[in-house]
Amino acid sequence: MQAVTLLGSTGSIGISTLDVLSQHPDKYKVYALTANCSVETLFKQCQQFQPTIAVMLDESSAEKLAEKLKYVGLNTEVLAGKQALKQVAESKHVDYVVAAIVGAAGLLPTLAAARAGKHILLANKEALVMSGGLFMKEVETHGATLLPVDSEHNAIWQCLPVGTKQIHHYDGKGVRRIILTASGGPFRDYDIADLEHVTPEQAVAHPNWSMGQKISVDSATMMNKGLEVIEAHWLFGLPANQIEVILHRQSIIHSMVDYVDGSVLAQMGNPDMRTPITNALAWPDRIGSGVAPLDLVAVGRLDFAVADHHNFPCLALAYQALEAGGTSTAILNAANEIAVEAFLKKHIKFTRIAQIIEQVLSKVSASNGDTLEQVLADDLQARHAAIELVK
Ligand code: NAD
Ligand code: MG
Repeated sequence: MQAVTLLGSTGSIGISTLDVLSQHPDKYKVYALTANCSVETLFKQCQQFQPTIAVMLDESSAEKLAEKLKYVGLNTEVLAGKQALKQVAESKHVDYVVAAIVGAAGLLPTLAAARAGKHILLANKEALVMSGGLFMKEVETHGATLLPVDSEHNAIWQCLPVGTKQIHHYDGKGVRRIILTASGGPFRDYDIADLEHVTPEQAVAHPNWSMGQKISVDSATMMNKGLEVIEAHWLFGLPANQIEVILHRQSIIHSMVDYVDGSVLAQMGNPDMRTPITNALAWPDRIGSGVAPLDLVAVGRLDFAVADHHNFPCLALAYQALEAGGTSTAILNAANEIAVEAFLKKHIKFTRIAQIIEQVLSKVSASNGDTLEQVLADDLQARHAAIELVK
């Protein structure tokens, strides 16, 4: 029995993960579930999975949850706050930590899991975008095992040479390039001029995937793919010029590895996050995920096209930040989080997102990012600069 802490259990990845866990009650037990403030959803999850601990970031939500659990006679302990998130990620009772909190808030508990040498199933790409160098060093130093859940990175992981035991030991040998596939999001067929007036409702309506709001907007701007380029750089140790993005509208090939001998390995499957989650959970074994078998005849065709940096300026900005190095990618991430939130609240237009990120990147000077304090300080400075611009 492996004990699992699920950080961000009420979100899209969290719910898919619980679906997989519920299919394998003989293999996994839930140690802790965590959420920001969704009391009702976390309460129902506690009833079904009976975790030892439930954490809510928000104090008053935690009080409400504790009352509800007491009323139905469940003895799950309820904790609140950031320190409690860290505590359940590093607990000696836990083997696997699923990092599925959205945004920068996921960094500290995920880092705690790395320092405690856990098996980390990483969905929270922002942690690597903010501090990839530091994070990978902690994974190595403390003997943690890092398994990518993001579908593209999980696909690449599956296409790396057989025998790659730990992601951070992979040296890139024999690989010409990594090819990340991108669906292009809901606006892939729009002209840049038409993007001026798109709404949050249109932006979160992804054609192939059902996801949380923030990552859905990131997919519409293609900042999601930009963050994934940075994530791939840290996970697989390849420079930006060996990480390519191409549009693939069907989302059947989840990414590819192009080897120097001309072989290109691709991982395929229906667009359902339960596949990469299950792959990371059971690695190096294979177990069922509940995902329907791929019907290639029904898919019919696979299309590929250039990912246009002109229509998707966020993708270009992510490459620029990666090339610039240091805390540039943390600044990019922080500005993006503020701009996306402002767009979702209808305070700014869709096309302002990229402009704000570009302005923040030129306003806030990056440091080398050698310490967590530096990363957090530059993240905060970028947030302040972005808040001024969304007013
Ligand atoms: P979501 O918005 O659906 O869920 C986010 C979860 O984090 C919720 O449980 C919420 O309660 C919790 N949370 C939010 N803010 C918090 C805070 N400040 N402190 C503590 N907890 C907080 O997001 P999602 O779509 O599930 O994405 C989660 C992560 O996985 C993101 O980093 C995203 O980029 C990544 N990811 C998601 C998908 C997907 O298909 N949804 C695919 C690949 C990667
Ligand atoms: Mg992805």
